[in-house]
Amino acid sequence: MTAPDATCSRCSRTRSGEPDPLALLSWVSTKEDGRERWLCPNCVRDHVRDIEAKLPDEYW
Ligand SMILES: [Zn+2]
Repeated sequence: MTAPDATCSRCSRTRSGEPDPLALLSWVSTKEDGRERWLCPNCVRDHVRDIEAKLPDEYW
């Protein structure tokens, strides 16, 4: 299930504006405090680096 107006919580790109279908699949949704958050592929890459650097695996 995807929200039609999913927006990257970091850079504010909209998922519906993603031109590349493969990139679309790379968007990641996470739940935080019961709210759905989205990260675009670029921000996921940065985010993962952050997590590997300082957070334990169970953060995901
Ligand atoms: Zn982003």
